[in-house]
Amino acid sequence: MKFSEFDIPENIMKGIDALGYTEMTPVQSETFPHIAKGTDLIVVAETGSGKTAACAVPLVKHADNNIDAIQGLVIVPTRELAVQYVDTIGDIAKYTDIKSFSVYGGFDIKIQKAKLTHGVHILVATPGRLIDLLYNSELSLSKVNTLILDEADEMMNMGFIDDIEFIMSCLIHEHQTLLFSATMPEDIRKLSKKYLNNPNELHLNKDQVAPQSLAHCFTQCGFRNRLTKVKEYLAKQNPAQAILFCNSRNGANQLFKDLKSIHKEDIDIIHGGMEQQKRTSLFNRFRKGKLKLVVATDVASRGLDFSHVTHVINFDFPSSLEAYTHRTGRTARMGRKGTALTYFSQGNLHELQAIIKKINIKPIWEGCHEPDFKNAKKPKGRRPYRKKK
Ligand code: ADP
Ligand code: MG
Repeated sequence: MKFSEFDIPENIMKGIDALGYTEMTPVQSETFPHIAKGTDLIVVAETGSGKTAACAVPLVKHADNNIDAIQGLVIVPTRELAVQYVDTIGDIAKYTDIKSFSVYGGFDIKIQKAKLTHGVHILVATPGRLIDLLYNSELSLSKVNTLILDEADEMMNMGFIDDIEFIMSCLIHEHQTLLFSATMPEDIRKLSKKYLNNPNELHLNKDQVAPQSLAHCFTQCGFRNRLTKVKEYLAKQNPAQAILFCNSRNGANQLFKDLKSIHKEDIDIIHGGMEQQKRTSLFNRFRKGKLKLVVATDVASRGLDFSHVTHVINFDFPSSLEAYTHRTGRTARMGRKGTALTYFSQGNLHELQAIIKKINIKPIWEGCHEPDFKNAKKPKGRRPYRKKK
């Protein structure tokens, strides 16, 4: 379906055209009619399916520039996602008088407060910063007509559940809530029951969360050989753009140092402990294609639209099934081809087997034989799921 087949005002269509979108993605064409009805909606969809524009178009459409108040509120888990989301809204609203703005931690709250007094119609926020602003009563949500929770499962994983619940409980007047998530854990179910009003539920990822155009490669190798292996792999494949994931900041710093001498200006690093300015700068350089390789911890793996990433490399074995899905979801977006390469050792066999089974993927054994899963032992004393990075 085309955007032009829907009832979208001309000044918004101009913004959509300028972005180069003509055909809607399935998420967009399936959610539009529901969103237009004004009812609450839960959408379980794979990453890279175009959820941002699916929300941004109705958000802009439903905002009235004669009302000097926040009417659309979007909650996202991370600062980078907030920036990305507000950029898309800005593009779509380019030829309208609707103003959007984002607030997130790690940035001067005074500047954000000042900006909020100047007619913001759509606000994108991370939970913590939004609550700081609400407690200081700088901010009124009494005119919010649309609330969007993006990457809801990730917000739960990051321990934001109480914050989200608090924000939802602040919206006591009638409004529409749209909840987006890649998975539907019990916590989110409960939250939806409590705060959503008779929601429709759309499952758009069918049997598997992973995009179809993604090749899942796995290489068995010992801890010590990984660096040599990854250097060889990068030299041989020469990926157009790759993200290399590590489980810890220390590990990421070390890998970055080791690869920097070879890849020089083509490589950089992103993790949660970095200053906001540095993160934003890296994020922009990578999106514009000025960087080829990024070493990252899981903060960078969720929701970010690095549209042209060709390779995702799990240098460290992901700490959960969700982490695997979301890391590898950074590539093969919008039907483009992508490759995920995961290094594993004997100790990861149990988790590897679960990934293959649950996400329903066809593994490609890269430079090794298929491992003997009969030897897979459930790791002892380790929590199956690691929270907050
Ligand atoms: P999600 O939030 O579902 O993971 P995004 O909203 O980040 O996905 O979109 C992924 C990519 O698809 C972005 O680069 C975006 O610009 C692009 N995109 C979104 N909608 C369309 C469309 N209708 N046509 C072409 N590209 C689109
Ligand atoms: Mg998204």
